Amino acid sequence: MAVTHTAALLLRAHPYGETSRVLRFLTRDRGIVGVMARGVRSGKGSGLDTFAGGRLTYYHKESRDLHSFKEFGVERSRRGLGRHPLRLAAASVLADLVLRHGGDADAHALFDALDGAFDALAEAAVDTVPGALLREGWQLIAVLGYHPSLDVCPVCGATLKADDMGRFDFEQGGVRCPGCAESSGGPRLGPGARAQLETFLAGSVPADLQRPRAHLQFLSDFVTHHLAGSRSLESFRVLAALLPPDEA
Ligand SMILES: [Zn+2]
Repeated sequence: MAVTHTAALLLRAHPYGETSRVLRFLTRDRGIVGVMARGVRSGKGSGLDTFAGGRLTYYHKESRDLHSFKEFGVERSRRGLGRHPLRLAAASVLADLVLRHGGDADAHALFDALDGAFDALAEAAVDTVPGALLREGWQLIAVLGYHPSLDVCPVCGATLKADDMGRFDFEQGGVRCPGCAESSGGPRLGPGARAQLETFLAGSVPADLQRPRAHLQFLSDFVTHHLAGSRSLESFRVLAALLPPDEA
């Protein structure tokens, strides 16, 4: 067993028996790390608040999925995330996205993106949470290597014109041009929605964000296809239940 120290974000804590916890972290040096924490309670005062950031110390066991927890020195508690269910649900979506992917990417870039995303959500005014989640979610997807192609048809290679109505092809990860769209069952993606997606991918929220629920459903479907296997993430359903319907 080797004592290991790394910057880490606590993504999930599950009770294990009466007095222990299984904790899942995204670490800056080793990606996703699961540890067994014996005799540790989570929740108020324990320092083990979900989405907290800090320094994790654990005993790394080769060839084991669960390592042994030593301590977690919290540097950013992010209690603001727990003060509103919408912020909490949005942070859960990002944590689940990374957990489901498995964190097998450039660990430093992924860590920094998620660390920044939790800060952004913790500080977001409640009515700006859906936009902030869409921006941070698409940024994470890009870091994980799944940047969707929005301007070149993945079937014929044609460049989409600004006012083209295309259809998104989940298999190919891009927008089909009008000529190739007919044979696709993917969702229609018009010029407005495409421009808004470009804005999220560029790291901003459109000033006139329209139909946030439809955008979140699209993000959920994209994640299901590329990262989650066949099941959508439960945290997207929790989030959707908290949002008002889109205006027509
Ligand atoms: Zn085409």
